[in-house]
Amino acid sequence: MFIRAERIETLPPYLFAEIDNKVQKAIEQGMEIIKLGIGDPDQPTPDHIITKAIKAIREPKNHQYPSYAGLPTFRQAVSQYYDKRFGVNLSAEKEVVSLIGSKEGIAHVSFCYVNPNDLVLVPDPGYPVYSIGSMFAGGEPYKMPLLKENNYLPDLDSIPEYIAKAAKIMFLNYPNNPTGAVATKEFFEKVVKFAKDNKIIVCHDAAYCDIGLDGYKPMSFLETPGAKDVGIEFGSLSKTYNMTGWRVGYAVGNKDIIESLGLIKTNIDSGIFQPLQYAAAEALSQEQACVEEMTKIYQHRRDLVVDTLNKLGWNLEKPKATFYVWAPVPKGYTSQSFATLLLEKAGVVVTPGVGFGKYGEGYFRISLTVDNEKLIKAMNRIEQQLGDNYCK
Ligand SMILES: *Cc1c(COP(=O)(O)O)cnc(C)c1O
Repeated sequence: MFIRAERIETLPPYLFAEIDNKVQKAIEQGMEIIKLGIGDPDQPTPDHIITKAIKAIREPKNHQYPSYAGLPTFRQAVSQYYDKRFGVNLSAEKEVVSLIGSKEGIAHVSFCYVNPNDLVLVPDPGYPVYSIGSMFAGGEPYKMPLLKENNYLPDLDSIPEYIAKAAKIMFLNYPNNPTGAVATKEFFEKVVKFAKDNKIIVCHDAAYCDIGLDGYKPMSFLETPGAKDVGIEFGSLSKTYNMTGWRVGYAVGNKDIIESLGLIKTNIDSGIFQPLQYAAAEALSQEQACVEEMTKIYQHRRDLVVDTLNKLGWNLEKPKATFYVWAPVPKGYTSQSFATLLLEKAGVVVTPGVGFGKYGEGYFRISLTVDNEKLIKAMNRIEQQLGDNYCK
């Protein structure tokens, strides 16, 4: 009855509708389904963070509109965290802005710099918000394939010069969702040079920068010399502190870009509920023992999943970061048909790689965010149903 705007009408189709239907049917038939599809931590938010939030909620001054850019306490905590964790110096006032979850900033940054028909470089496979945010601003995503042979880093040399010259923004994400890949210092140096040569704004999504496994410490893009001249980094409390539902994140880096993002936000939202900002500041500034514990849990689960798949004939390396395992589908399957097989035979839901873009075809993603007992059950079922040397 009402004609939708083109930006909504041209949204890519929801790829998981068919699988969602099948999940629903299986549940109705009484099948016990184990969902390894969504990356949403199963563990609770650590207690000291909750305690801080409760205390702050009781303060009437925290019930009013928060400041747009974020409380000084929160922005200082982000700045101090960057100094301590990465050795990166940030002005809390000019180089940090709070976000209602990093997704919000990722979706809005294109509004700051993208005019209709401008190009935006986005990784494929990748978090869908990079493309969709740029499309909402009228821009056109240009896909940078993330291929296994390049360790899932985009090959900047293969981007045609006329594309590079025309592009406004490049989105990157390391440690990477969905592939679990990590960036190297050399790669980030190359990105800074590429961005300078072509006057491109780099938006690095560091949502998983503290989910390093086996003692690995992922780096910040801002550690790269010159990075602050060309870009910003998005950060989030969601994955590091099991706070996906709280909606607290931030963007840091180049002060002009941070200012532009703040300007857009001032006209759209009214900041983050102050008690949540105090709690987030507490999370960032206190001891990080809770993060250590959590990464140990993911490490254990990762080993369980990778070892099981390798026993069945896969040949996977263990990802050094994130809580995802990215694996090729066996011969003869598409990512959707293999996900359907796992659902129908084993009652296990995984994400078909094609949901992250066309270069995700041929892969599936397992998320490690369910409790150990369920994960063991899921792996046992997969083992029983597929059998040894299933994937050769
Ligand atoms: C989870 C995730 C986010 C973070 O989301 P929030 O909005 O901060 O909860 C950002 N980028 C990627 C790639 C993610 O997987």
